[in-house]
Amino acid sequence: MQIFRALWVSLAVLLSAGLLIAPAHSDTGRRDEATESFVRGFVRFLAYHEAGHLLMGQIANLNTHPDWSAADREDYADKFATILLQPDADDPEGIDEIISAVAGWLQVDTSILNNEPHAPPQDRAYDILCLVYGSDPGSFSLFEEVLDPSSDCTGLYQAMREEVDGIFKDYSGEMGHSVAIVYGPPSGGMDAARAFLIESNVAEDLKDDLEADFYLTHRTTIQAMSCTGKAKPDTFYFDTVRAQNPDDDHFVITLCYEMIDARLKYGMRGFEDEGEQN
Ligand SMILES: [Zn+2]
Repeated sequence: MQIFRALWVSLAVLLSAGLLIAPAHSDTGRRDEATESFVRGFVRFLAYHEAGHLLMGQIANLNTHPDWSAADREDYADKFATILLQPDADDPEGIDEIISAVAGWLQVDTSILNNEPHAPPQDRAYDILCLVYGSDPGSFSLFEEVLDPSSDCTGLYQAMREEVDGIFKDYSGEMGHSVAIVYGPPSGGMDAARAFLIESNVAEDLKDDLEADFYLTHRTTIQAMSCTGKAKPDTFYFDTVRAQNPDDDHFVITLCYEMIDARLKYGMRGFEDEGEQN
């Protein structure tokens, strides 16, 4: 749990003090193993967040539900991602990655990430920790340092787990549509980001998880691409490409290389001191 130990002290301070890490001077950041693990965890969380939107649209029709605000859907997609990625207490890599997602939110620099209508980054970080803690309070008791004792994390975790298992998951043993993965050309100097994404296996893991646990009713694609000039390049997206016949709608998760590139360059800035002591 290398990253977990390296990050925890800073996370606890940041969450308790209510601070975000200020954007620092620009440098290229270090591409060491800790940085890669950190970025992989954050990127994985964002990809699974988009999968939450996808499943909400494809299985439960929540994306067009009149009672749900955009903020409600964003919260739900975050909770979905956390449940899908929820690590067991004996899974150090999974813990490192989910902690990296938490840290990634606290590190948010609006110059590289600006994807409203999501909740404030600190709230997103807090909610992830709360759900992970709620999944196994005994094993994750360290999280109590930063969690508000009045938050019912166990109840929140159980309610969300029941919704994912009861409403979304499929137990028929049959497979719906398979998920296509497309890595677009890395135009605009995005070669390293593309290579990193491929090596991380995030898209393939997501494909496997979607196909194994859910019955996909529609054509579904995870596309990685250089977004500059086509979409806002600093984030990931989910879109439903509507067809004349709704049965032919195409559900697409887009992973922009630029977001990964920015994160790799930004590295573990703000967490470096603690990292070096370990
Ligand atoms: Zn979203």
